[in-house]
Amino acid sequence: MQEQNEQALGANAQWEIQAGEYWLQEIAAGETVRITDLHGNQAADTLFFNADSPFERYSAFDTIRTQQALYLTKGSTLISNLGKPMLTIVDDTCGRHDTLGGACSGESNTVRYALEKKTMHSCRNSWLLALHKEYAHIGLTKRDLAHNVNFFMNVPVTPEGGLTFEDGVSGPGKYVELQALMNVLVLISNCPQLNNPCNGYNPTPIAVAKWSTQID
Ligand SMILES: [Zn+2]
Repeated sequence: MQEQNEQALGANAQWEIQAGEYWLQEIAAGETVRITDLHGNQAADTLFFNADSPFERYSAFDTIRTQQALYLTKGSTLISNLGKPMLTIVDDTCGRHDTLGGACSGESNTVRYALEKKTMHSCRNSWLLALHKEYAHIGLTKRDLAHNVNFFMNVPVTPEGGLTFEDGVSGPGKYVELQALMNVLVLISNCPQLNNPCNGYNPTPIAVAKWSTQID
């Protein structure tokens, strides 16, 4: 599926990912990945692993503590559970990304919405499918689905400290670019959620591109 969608774009590789599908690629240190919200109001639920030692992975706790801010934007550095910098957001036309809301699952659909929502497509199922189909050799399983970033997703923190899912801060064509500071395995679920406004009740495609860059 990923191969079918791949197009040459100059020296870059580019993919279009439909809602409910995944994208799993290794980004070498120095490479940049761009995620584009093609139609706006979409959520791209993304996991990051150290490609050379995948039991090291993105940590929301360490990232928030290090940057002393709840949201991610240009200048944010994503920190691993071992305290190492994994990637830096080098450009961002959306302005704000969530890392508190987690990802949708059959279980959360059931608890939040209704019992019959359990079998709807979900980000956690997309991640598991990707790891099983593409990376079974490294042995990542359900227990390795830890913290994620929700690019383009609007999850404001209320004055009382609660979380709400709101209509998006993103719009058509808005994008975020991350430069890898180590070899990183990037696993995106383009969210198929239909039960809350994170996708505007209309999940739409995203585009992903990657290219090589020089680290200063
Ligand atoms: Zn989702």
